[in-house]
Amino acid sequence: MPEAGSDREELFDPPPKFALKAHEFQVLAVKAYTSYCNGSFLPCLNMYQNLRSKESMPKGNGRPTQENYDLAKAAIQFERQFAANHHSGSKSNRPIIHLSGTLPLIISCPHAVNHPREGRLKLADTFTGPLAMQLAAFTKAHALIYARTSNEDPNYDADGPYKRELAALIRNTHSRFVLDIHGMGRSRPVQIAIGTAQGRTLGDKAQIREAVVQAFRLAGFSEMFIDVPNQYDASRAGTVTSYVWNSLGVPAMQVEIHKEFRDPQDAPEQYENVLFALRNCVLAVEHLI
Ligand SMILES: [Zn+2]
Repeated sequence: MPEAGSDREELFDPPPKFALKAHEFQVLAVKAYTSYCNGSFLPCLNMYQNLRSKESMPKGNGRPTQENYDLAKAAIQFERQFAANHHSGSKSNRPIIHLSGTLPLIISCPHAVNHPREGRLKLADTFTGPLAMQLAAFTKAHALIYARTSNEDPNYDADGPYKRELAALIRNTHSRFVLDIHGMGRSRPVQIAIGTAQGRTLGDKAQIREAVVQAFRLAGFSEMFIDVPNQYDASRAGTVTSYVWNSLGVPAMQVEIHKEFRDPQDAPEQYENVLFALRNCVLAVEHLI
């Protein structure tokens, strides 16, 4: 395989008529490089890191400019449907939204709006809805989003409409992985928490966890809980992650994202960074399932 640098010129020279924005260009470049490497995700991730460094950005199209925060601006618009009615979701939305994809992988978003747990209302994991929507659009994965408050907490109750729809979606799409996205509050001590019940919910695909950790590290995330017992490790039976593995035999992982990275209004670059990292997680996992 030729050295990554030798291909960079070519990758950075798209025909001007496409007028790609920096992030769109990155998506295409990473995808091109992924297929070039014939499924080896590590070179792809290294390439991504190169793409993110300032000096390797295409001329006149690099960060930071306001227009590079289009994704954050779009996220603010997308969040309105979930924030409606005091974060119980817009009544014009379906209770559970399915965004159709072509990848056999599902992005699950069970806390986009407030949800009940043991008789009390728990607050929404804000901006996880837009993250799931944009991640699905970037990767062509399916997304399932809890979009209106109901009687179900999909990440706690043993059974309910969300879990049933998720099970049907896995069957119908022959999906082989579920990435379950959540948010942690500002008081939490880490940026990202990854939960696979100490690897149990990955079955024989243990390398998925390493690929995801690597994707986050390459995007600059250094403070992570990785299956720390009782710290967002998804080992409780009612979690989406444990349910998907225990009941359906499909590998699954929970990712919790600190609020600092879900604040596109005040920290658009942080929001976009976590979106890029998640996208690279999916790109890496795609080759392992
Ligand atoms: Zn949650």
